[in-house]
Amino acid sequence: MQPTLTAIREVMCEHIYPLEPDFLAPETGFRDLLPRLEAVRRVVKERGLWAPHLPEAYGGMGLSLSEFALVSEELGRSPLGHYAFNCQAPDVGNMELLLEHGTPAQKEKFLLPLARGEIRSCFSMTEPDHPGSNPAWMAATAVREGDHYRIEGHKWFTSSAEGAAFAIVMVITNPDASRYRRASMLIVPLDTPGFRVVRNIPVMGHPGEDYHSHAEVRYENCRVPVENLLGPEGHGFALAQERLGPGRIHHCMRWIGICERAFDLMCRRAATRQVAPGRTLGEQGVVQAWIAESRAEINAARMLVLHAARRIDEVGQYAARDDISIIKFYVAGVLQRVLDRAIQVHGALGVTDDTPLAYWYRHERAARIYDGPDEVHKIALARRILRAYAPESSER
Ligand SMILES: Cc1cc2nc3c(=O)[nH]c(=O)nc-3n(C[C@H](O)[C@H](O)[C@H](O)COP(=O)(O)OP(=O)(O)OC[C@H]3O[C@@H](n4cnc5c(N)ncnc54)[C@H](O)[C@@H]3O)c2cc1C
Repeated sequence: MQPTLTAIREVMCEHIYPLEPDFLAPETGFRDLLPRLEAVRRVVKERGLWAPHLPEAYGGMGLSLSEFALVSEELGRSPLGHYAFNCQAPDVGNMELLLEHGTPAQKEKFLLPLARGEIRSCFSMTEPDHPGSNPAWMAATAVREGDHYRIEGHKWFTSSAEGAAFAIVMVITNPDASRYRRASMLIVPLDTPGFRVVRNIPVMGHPGEDYHSHAEVRYENCRVPVENLLGPEGHGFALAQERLGPGRIHHCMRWIGICERAFDLMCRRAATRQVAPGRTLGEQGVVQAWIAESRAEINAARMLVLHAARRIDEVGQYAARDDISIIKFYVAGVLQRVLDRAIQVHGALGVTDDTPLAYWYRHERAARIYDGPDEVHKIALARRILRAYAPESSER
């Protein structure tokens, strides 16, 4: 893996970090950067580093989840890293779903162009009027009418919908089935009549655009052919769970990349900023404590995530569900503490967009919410732990 990581680091230094000042500048939108990002994507392909998570047959590197986790850390050091290598959320999860459950025709029509980076996609599950943390309860429906499904639904936080070619949408198809068998996933090309982006939702004051956005969307009399059903009818919940397991490893390793970059910036600043002639910030005990605590927490977080990735590779994500819950809330917490300390060490500079710290502080607050809020993971984990202590349990 080391030569691969070195090659990725070279692309990051030569081509990606130099784009960051324009990405962070308020007058430049994501769309303005697209031509330059396309050029970087060509370099990534030429160097054989494209789509690290995909099998070689789909033009990817064929890495295992544990190997991809290491790559994800490197790419996470910049807000543009994953996009440049075509392994950005939500496309990465959609590619994995299509790879595992797509029919040959779905793979041809949707997965191949996604794998080549010719199109983008989005994932449409959460609804404004229902709790996203309970995905078994939602209102969007798809009613079968002959050889089509008619979709009616209101979703939001359909990230990257603007400019995407298709959505994978979660809808109720079997309302009378048991709780976890009611929903299905459908592939909706976004030029289908009846699909509408209502708005890009401002996140911490920034509406974003193109890939870099989160949309409120409506499906109104939106009809797709039955061939667009992904997996069997009624299996939407199971597929969503399957998508989220590796997805949480992807996010957590990306957050560790962010932590490492923030740590690096914090230490550089501490070592060079003088608080009085000849006295640096790094000589202050409180700053030293922040640096030591951050180092320990990042190391611990990385080990937990790599352990979880290995468990998923070896025993599957159901058996690894405790490990997955642990990393989701633990690493999100580390991320926020490290970012906060790094900003504090930078003083006023920390809240400007002259470093990526403020960008991450704004956009990664959501880390404790998406893919399962902290509280839901903690409750699920503690319940499973306590089961072994129940008086009638024989697990102990
Ligand atoms: C930046 C961002 C990007 C996103 N991208 C996507 C996307 O691409 N596609 C998509 O479908 N969704 C996306 N989401 C939505 C995300 O998955 C949901 O926000 C998440 O599942 C939580 O659902 P909710 O917002 O409805 O909060 P709710 O379910 O209403 O929960 C609110 C709060 O209640 C608490 N809570 C909830 N349940 C429990 C419980 N059982 N016990 C104790 N406390 C509880 C938690 O503190 C939680 O934060 C995104 C969200 C964000 C912020």
